[in-house]
Amino acid sequence: MTHTSLIVAVDGPAGSGKSSVSKAVAARLGYAYLDTGACYRALAWYVGSRGIDETDAAAVASSLAGFVLSIGTEPGGYRVVVGEGAGTDVSGGTDVTEAIREPRVSGLVSAIARVPEVREQLTVLFRQIMAGTERPGIVVEGRDITTVVAPHAPVRILLTADPDVRAARRAAELTGEDAAVVGQQLHRRDEADSRVVDFMTAAEGVTTVDSTALDFDETVDAVVAVIERNA
Ligand code: C5P
Repeated sequence: MTHTSLIVAVDGPAGSGKSSVSKAVAARLGYAYLDTGACYRALAWYVGSRGIDETDAAAVASSLAGFVLSIGTEPGGYRVVVGEGAGTDVSGGTDVTEAIREPRVSGLVSAIARVPEVREQLTVLFRQIMAGTERPGIVVEGRDITTVVAPHAPVRILLTADPDVRAARRAAELTGEDAAVVGQQLHRRDEADSRVVDFMTAAEGVTTVDSTALDFDETVDAVVAVIERNA
């Protein structure tokens, strides 16, 4: 039996709350959830663990041949597993679900994400996962989902918030971190990332949800309202 799942594409900068909001939206609607940033992070982890220089684009592109990734789509909890080899089998691989959140990986990820071969290969994987979902919908979240990965998705949202608010939210997530330092790191990553894809301005047909003055539940409600209006 074939069916098509509703694709909800969500883009936004770091600290906009898009991961937690997208997960909550997917859970509420019974949809699947795909964290594309986690996939870029998994490759960054792999590149780092192999001692490859992340600024060497040719070496990063070559590393793709041995990189095997598995990511779940359950919004309540998904594992990210990295294997090595030619096929798609990750048995015997490394569960990197927690490791990919380490600052070491955040520091590498922008460099690997600007390699065109990386973006092409991961985009193919994202489209396979989207096509394979059995839920009524899937929320796909990242930086270039509304523009490159799923430009024809029926629902496309840009989730934004003022930079100070984003830094404060991210600092609150990371206990013991200084909001000013976190703000600088966030700004640096956004700046590097936005040289590759523009996720600061909404492309044509994309609805902006600005969460600056909204709390978490209000942001989830606002996104669900956009889905209900457009689906
Ligand atoms: O969303 P998150 O902050 O975890 O993403 C980690 C990194 O992955 C981003 O800083 C960016 O370099 C890259 N990324 C990307 N395109 C996406 C999702 C993430 O380039 N669709």
